[in-house]
Amino acid sequence: MKLTSAIERTGYGFGGDIGGLPRTTYYTPDGRVIKAIPSIREYVKKDKEGKVIGGGTRDANLDKGWLLSLPNRNVRKLFCQTCDRWHDTQAEVKACGQELKKFIDQMTRKAKKENTDKTSSLEQQVAELKAMVSRLMEGKNGGILQPKANELKKVSRQQRARKGKEAV
Ligand SMILES: [Zn+2]
Repeated sequence: MKLTSAIERTGYGFGGDIGGLPRTTYYTPDGRVIKAIPSIREYVKKDKEGKVIGGGTRDANLDKGWLLSLPNRNVRKLFCQTCDRWHDTQAEVKACGQELKKFIDQMTRKAKKENTDKTSSLEQQVAELKAMVSRLMEGKNGGILQPKANELKKVSRQQRARKGKEAV
């Protein structure tokens, strides 16, 4: 028994000189066993003024939700393929999947709408260009190029009043 655990600890016997890194046994919240090299990260604790007040190392593998001991059968969670994490109930797993589906649907609809908008504005631009070209052609063929509203703009009373003040 002792030998087995020693082998386990060094990663199936590849230890020391060969450069094998010791593996740790982790357990997923749904009760699976994972042997992995600990992902040790250093961290520092700082106070409000930014002064270092402590620190140490932590295993980033635990951030994934992995555990160092096998969870008791009645507290085990359910693995969720949607978020690659764990939920307490089947209902939560289902809701998580639906949430993602809703989001994907939303994005798809948005992308489709944007495409339609682009197409319609392009069609509009082409129509405007065609109109412009035909107007130019009319001009070349003897027509007169002149804006329709060609009368002088009326000066409003306010504008006149302002001009009067400026003149004083
Ligand atoms: Zn989920």
